[in-house]
Amino acid sequence: MGKKGILVVVSGFSGAGKGTIMKRLLEDYPERYALSISATTRAPRPGESHGKEYFFVSKEEFEEMIEKDALIEYARYVNNYYGTPKDYVFQQLEAGRDVILEIEIQGALKVKEAFQDTLLLFVSPPSAQELKDRLVNRGTEERAIIESRLNRAWQEAQGVENYDYFVINDDLEECVQEVHNIIRNEHARVTRNHTVIENIRAELKGFAKGD
Ligand code: 5GP
Repeated sequence: MGKKGILVVVSGFSGAGKGTIMKRLLEDYPERYALSISATTRAPRPGESHGKEYFFVSKEEFEEMIEKDALIEYARYVNNYYGTPKDYVFQQLEAGRDVILEIEIQGALKVKEAFQDTLLLFVSPPSAQELKDRLVNRGTEERAIIESRLNRAWQEAQGVENYDYFVINDDLEECVQEVHNIIRNEHARVTRNHTVIENIRAELKGFAKGD
């Protein structure tokens, strides 16, 4: 059997550019990565479509998914539900792809608790002012929502120590490469290579006896 993929959680303040980084990673390495598509009760932004950025569902539909245990994790974020459907993630990991979940911090910690070998990355803009400017310039949210998101960013900043890596998104190209390198290096960890190591040991033992 081939090697299983790594479960990677990418979090970061709203407006940190996570979505763009993930899209680029998938375009550049389509065979290596799969992006999990979450379900949410928030309304689509202009240009977003069902099944692409999110599965946009009603509150009732979301609660049914919770009841049926169809989600790996879910959380409330600024008055809406967001959650990760199980099936796709598990299929892709089995197929050997690294699966990326772009989720906020509560969900990230729940995933880590359930699957201890999850890799947690936190993406941040170079400064808080830059974060505010990006949110305002995106122009897709009302003022009150931007304020809630900045408030939430402040809360999330308190939890960064729970993550394995902190990546600054200053230059997009560099950031994509950095995230890719971190994930690639993670594959080389001894704890993720027990089967290969055991096989080589067994083989060596055979050779040693033969001498
Ligand atoms: P947005 O509304 O900007 O698309 O997303 C708001 C926040 O929800 C972001 O921090 C995003 O990463 C997070 N999010 C998206 N999908 C999920 C999910 O399935 N679970 C959790 N816990 N958070 C999610």
